[in-house]
Amino acid sequence: MSDIKDVRLAPSGHDKIYWVASYMPILNTIKEDFIKNQPFKGLKISMSIHLEAKTAYLATVLKAGGAEVWVTGCNPLSTQDDVAAALVDMGFEVNAWRGVSNEQYEEHLKKTLSLCPNLMIDDGGDLTHLIHGECRDYAKDLIGGCEETTTGIHRLFARQRAGLLDYPMIDVNDADCKHLFDNRYGTGQSTLDGIMNSTNLIIAGKTVVIAGYGWCGKGMAMRAKGMGAVVVVTEIDPIKALEATMDGFSVMPMDEAAKIGDLFVTLTGCKDVIRREHLEVMKDGALLANSGHFDVEIDKIALSDMAVEEWQRKPNIRGYRMPDGRILNLLAEGRLVNLAAGNGHPAEIMDMSFAIQAKGLEYLAKNRGKLENKVYAVPAEIDREVAAIKLRANGVKIDYLSDEQKAYLEAAE
Ligand code: NAD
Ligand code: SAH
Repeated sequence: MSDIKDVRLAPSGHDKIYWVASYMPILNTIKEDFIKNQPFKGLKISMSIHLEAKTAYLATVLKAGGAEVWVTGCNPLSTQDDVAAALVDMGFEVNAWRGVSNEQYEEHLKKTLSLCPNLMIDDGGDLTHLIHGECRDYAKDLIGGCEETTTGIHRLFARQRAGLLDYPMIDVNDADCKHLFDNRYGTGQSTLDGIMNSTNLIIAGKTVVIAGYGWCGKGMAMRAKGMGAVVVVTEIDPIKALEATMDGFSVMPMDEAAKIGDLFVTLTGCKDVIRREHLEVMKDGALLANSGHFDVEIDKIALSDMAVEEWQRKPNIRGYRMPDGRILNLLAEGRLVNLAAGNGHPAEIMDMSFAIQAKGLEYLAKNRGKLENKVYAVPAEIDREVAAIKLRANGVKIDYLSDEQKAYLEAAE
């Protein structure tokens, strides 16, 4: 039996799902194909992804392909209760609600795995962690799974290196149609969206410190600059740091950036990026947000420890008064601000990421028994197919190589 907040919230959840589905042409195309070819007939799928409208639509696409699908979230704060209710109303088993405790969150993951899935979708590696440990018994029918995000992929490769990966996993994140668009343009827009939504403050003229200049950081820097911010980047990788300088941004260590920033956004996947010594020198009114994996990039324990008073200033903003009177503001409890304080990436972006997920699962089902227990890249033809459908949907045509051009490009001399 599902465990959600309130099934009576379903009508607004249905509206949200219907809205995003109108802007997800690739998934719509895949759904038609799945209805015809039933790639998941008789198969069970456990999903753990941010449970909002686009994810719900993905679940319906997999179900249309013949699967029984059980759904949970991948973050205690990103579940939208009305969307969860709509899924239950459509006959899905759903275990999630917004604001679960860490213990309840884990219970929901375990319950989702108790389906004994043939296939699974993970976002960040929490399902994978459980099914290799406490929930090993639920892996008896497992063919494999797909992982959505950068940090989850790092965890998978670590598992593979240690010889501890027990089934094939597909690296969705490194498909071009995922990270080039989702991590960059998706995170750029939705992180600002979550910040602006919760603060209702201006970006233009602010000094925005961006920690990490990977795919997410680049997107964030590009969009903050476009809105008139003065952008400062912190990095640990000399090449990324150099790239940031040539893209026109100031690069400096966090020790220096901490003194001048108005808004700080961490997008590194690392921990302790903003620490006590940084919090000590920040300006009064500084805003702190994280859009990377987990709530460990900003040391919120130190923040709480240092404060003489802390209180909820607005939904998604907690104020911390320092002994010298400065107030520092932490957004969305230091969890992914774009999903905890917003709706995450836009539909047109998740259309691509989730098309890769759907095709990745289909690939695993088709190649059942033929794959090794390792991390597989998304086959290039899937990436190209997704891009081609997207271009068609956007009404964009491109050129094709003639036979002579092909021969010219392939010639040795
Ligand atoms: P990436 O590997 O491309 O970039 C991370 C960057 O952070 C790297 O350049 C790295 O050198 C830098 N870095 C690491 N530790 C640092 C530190 N202590 N200080 C400064 N820089 C540091 O990864 P990505 O794809 O940009 O993803 C970043 C994080 O965001 C991951 O945890 C990923 O799972 C998450 N993510 C979030 C969303 C979202 O919706 N908010 C979307 C995609 C990915
Ligand atoms: N469990 C981790 C997950 C990292 S989230 C955590 O809570 O910290 C990062 C992933 O969220 C990205 O790879 C992106 O594809 C996904 N994402 C972003 N917007 C989304 C949306 N609107 N719906 C579902 N997933 C989304």
